[in-house]
Amino acid sequence: MFGARMREVWTRVSGGVLTTLFSIVLLTAVASAGSGAEVAEETAAGSQGLGTLSANVYAQTSAEHRACCYGIFAAAGWRLEEMLEDAEPVPARPAVVMDLDETVLDNSSFQAFLYRNGLVYTPELWERFEREGVREVGLVAGAESFIRKAESLGVAVVYLSNRNEGNAARTVAALAHVGLDTTLIAERLFLKPQGGSSDKSRRRDAASARYNVLMYLGDNLRDFSEVFAPQRLPDSATTDDYLKAMQARTASVDDATCHWGVDWFLIPNPMYGEWEKLVPPNPADILRPSGMEVRTGGE
Ligand SMILES: [Mg+2]
Repeated sequence: MFGARMREVWTRVSGGVLTTLFSIVLLTAVASAGSGAEVAEETAAGSQGLGTLSANVYAQTSAEHRACCYGIFAAAGWRLEEMLEDAEPVPARPAVVMDLDETVLDNSSFQAFLYRNGLVYTPELWERFEREGVREVGLVAGAESFIRKAESLGVAVVYLSNRNEGNAARTVAALAHVGLDTTLIAERLFLKPQGGSSDKSRRRDAASARYNVLMYLGDNLRDFSEVFAPQRLPDSATTDDYLKAMQARTASVDDATCHWGVDWFLIPNPMYGEWEKLVPPNPADILRPSGMEVRTGGE
């Protein structure tokens, strides 16, 4: 029963970008055993249990992750040129909307801080990093060249993030620290108001009212639409409930294939994300089944 459902799920997700996404989910699901479902909003948050080392090492050290990011930003740049050539003239300035954490800014030192100190993410710790970690942030590979290309094409680069609005000056300092242009940044920076929602819809609407938004880039599906907000599961949820919720979220991504690589570009983040909310307490329960059995002698 469980195996049949898993095969059904995996049949659905076996093609295209979903394969990559689910590979990352499973990589970290294995790595984050015991982290529970206390997870990330769209800042550089994450459950960050002690088991997330594999995901952190992959994101921070693997050349593969770096190459993947370069490729996505390069494709986005080519697509932007194409869109500008095809665009009908409109009064509003063209713009790209980018998430910040793990899309433009590499905050992996915060993840390392959590790991090394045996800590889990809390909003308070992250808020402290926003204030104190300005000089620790780096750039996600490929982000800078994409931003420079957009700017050279006359496209406004808009940053829409769930960093705290109260720390706006520190976020602007972080952008300057990594060498990005902060000219007229007040018009291009949409942060989360104090006590506000992590739902970015209203801020996306505000950006669209000001600019002719051509594309969105993020590392979290909610950087693109609230359609992808994962179902909130109760503590009593069964493995089957988790699988159904995963399947529903997967179907939402399938329904949006007209956007992926067209006007929505997702940067892989194996360290944390909304997807963690759909990983059950025992992540092994959702791993892809195999028909193989261990034979005597260890073959
Ligand atoms: Mg992000």
